[in-house]
Amino acid sequence: MELDFLIMHKLIIVLVLTIVSWASYASQHLEEEMIEYVVSMPNPDTHYFDVKVHLKGYGKDQVDFKLPVWTPGSYLVREYAKNVESFTAVTGDQKALNFHKKNKNTWSVDKAKNEDVTVTYKVYAFEGTKVRMSYLDESHAFIMANTLLMYVDDLKDSSAILKINVPGQWKKVSTTLQPTGRASNEFEVPSYDILVDSPIEIGNHEIIQFSAAGIPHEVIMYGAENYDPDRIKEDLTKIVEKATAIFGSNPNDEYKFIVHHSEDGGGGLEHYNSTVLGVKRWAYGSADSYNSFLALAAHEYFHLWMVKRLKPKVLDQIDYDEEVYTDLLWVMEGFTSYYADQLMLRAGFYDEDAYLKKLTRAITLLENTPGAQVQSVADASFDTWIKYYRRNENSNNNQISYYNKGLILGALLDLEVIHGSKGKKSLDNVVDGLYQHFYVKQGKGIVAEDVKNAVEEASGASMDYFFENYVSGTTDIDYNRYFEYAGIHLKSMVSKNSKSIGLNFSNQGNAAMVTSVVRGGSAYDNGIYAGDELISINGFRVKPSNFQAMINRIEIGEKAEILVSRKGIIKTVQVEIRENLRTGYSYELDKSKSKLQERVYKKWLDK
Ligand SMILES: [Zn+2]
Repeated sequence: MELDFLIMHKLIIVLVLTIVSWASYASQHLEEEMIEYVVSMPNPDTHYFDVKVHLKGYGKDQVDFKLPVWTPGSYLVREYAKNVESFTAVTGDQKALNFHKKNKNTWSVDKAKNEDVTVTYKVYAFEGTKVRMSYLDESHAFIMANTLLMYVDDLKDSSAILKINVPGQWKKVSTTLQPTGRASNEFEVPSYDILVDSPIEIGNHEIIQFSAAGIPHEVIMYGAENYDPDRIKEDLTKIVEKATAIFGSNPNDEYKFIVHHSEDGGGGLEHYNSTVLGVKRWAYGSADSYNSFLALAAHEYFHLWMVKRLKPKVLDQIDYDEEVYTDLLWVMEGFTSYYADQLMLRAGFYDEDAYLKKLTRAITLLENTPGAQVQSVADASFDTWIKYYRRNENSNNNQISYYNKGLILGALLDLEVIHGSKGKKSLDNVVDGLYQHFYVKQGKGIVAEDVKNAVEEASGASMDYFFENYVSGTTDIDYNRYFEYAGIHLKSMVSKNSKSIGLNFSNQGNAAMVTSVVRGGSAYDNGIYAGDELISINGFRVKPSNFQAMINRIEIGEKAEILVSRKGIIKTVQVEIRENLRTGYSYELDKSKSKLQERVYKKWLDK
């Protein structure tokens, strides 16, 4: 009896606990899943997604549905709402609700308090730059949620459900969102930020699986032709493990590389635990283009730590409504570009010579960009929304790439830290230190001063001059001060016997069309415009293939009579022939290195 009583007593407790926990689970679950998204694509040939958003029991009498205007990681307002049409709103029992467009990306729906709402709309998705846009055609569907799925501002941090109705011809849905387990192609959405950071590939793509740094990885291959899956597994494993080694651990439970192949593919976009890469269809056929694929994968993988977790303070809370300004993209993108090359070196895909040649090419590019005299790398970061992402014919004259100058500054800072710490530390310690201190311990972003402080701590040297002149200023960089730490000498050379009038042109149907005019060059000083068609020089017909030869036969200092067609009007312009002042950079190793130089060299180039 006593025993039975005890058992009964325990059963009651278990039952009560079960009911209590089920009730709290249910209410929590209900509250967490106020939003349910349903995405359909009934006819992929039309490139239209049909979207339904169910909002349950929202406690206000008006609700704003919004679509972001930009994609984190791609700093341009792209106005995704332009692709939305046929918006409707109904109650839970299908009664029509009033709504109005509040601004370009906000649909405001009137409703009773706590009333359920379902909105529906269509989104056209056929823009070529697929790494950052949703896309739909007969061969596949790609979902970037911020270009397709609307959010409600005060529910951005709530969880939601995403259901995808996949056309019967497609067998695979690849994403890092986790399935609910209740129905096929139904996913848990922890927050809107995570949804935006979880691209979804749908179709009949091939999947390469491998484990690296103890974590399952997948490479999702859409539209690829000549790749070797075993080689890709082996090579990406090396990159993943070298990147993870910098930070001591990998922040993922899983990772997916989504690779879109096309005729003119290029670029990539980083995500929280995945990336989307745009790659040329035949990229795996040559050593150079294969290395470019690996370097792109390395760049995006390094972003896992740099920008997806260690980020500028202003990105702690993402504002999808407008530009978010930071002066730190030279670190976020520049250091990431620096580490992409470093990872290629460390993983054995570049030798030291290939690595150093790549770095000197970056310097050659910067030093031959007139914009380096007028725009600092901090300003280039800040103004990316209106400059780097909106280039025009004058861009080389008034701006620089923060990817390129940031990469160069990353190299110089690495050398400074290795030298200052006598080979004990490197930039690895700086980026890992910032990651551990700000992201892991405090869960917050950084400002420029934090980077400066971290470099000073690791190198033991003041970074005032460096940051004032090379980061916030446009002072000429004293490269050899840094390269000499490693016993390397940077040489500059003006190409001999070369003449120039300082313009670039493109071949359009065998016509030479001026695409840009170099600030301070002869064409710039003498009135040739971008857009001019070069017709003749000193009476001889110009063809794109013979332009340079025609310039070369005229003496330096002489004027050439150039006939141009400008908006259909023929003009004659006198242009002085000048020496080509384009400077090329190369490196040489010092014949004898001091012990410290030897140590710095080995630490830097991972020998
Ligand atoms: Zn990047």
